[in-house]
Amino acid sequence: MAWLHDEGLSEDATCPLCNQELETIDHLLQCPFSRSLWFDALSIFGWGFWTPSPLATLKCWWTDFLSIRGPARKKASSVVLLILREIWLERNCLIFRNIDRPRHIILDGIRLEVARWKEVGLLRD
Ligand SMILES: [Zn+2]
Repeated sequence: MAWLHDEGLSEDATCPLCNQELETIDHLLQCPFSRSLWFDALSIFGWGFWTPSPLATLKCWWTDFLSIRGPARKKASSVVLLILREIWLERNCLIFRNIDRPRHIILDGIRLEVARWKEVGLLRD
């Protein structure tokens, strides 16, 4: 993340997922790689239309996303956290292990996490 660079803890603040922009908190939504993953992951739940726009900020987008009413709201919160976690893990996989996983493997991992989160009650239908 850019703050690691600012603190002198990292030499490069460029997003490792797209190699195009500075890695900021909002870039988690704006990154072309991440946006594509958001679409695919949200589509698992029939929520592909919630894919962040290229100009979305995390705070505004998440607030809008959580405007969902009823029981789906809690599910939406869990889904956002799960996808953010998977993007973070993919980023770390690239940086620390230099492994660039194929997209279908990442999505399979997300589906597996969805099943695990459901099993332990972190995610409900
Ligand atoms: Zn990026």
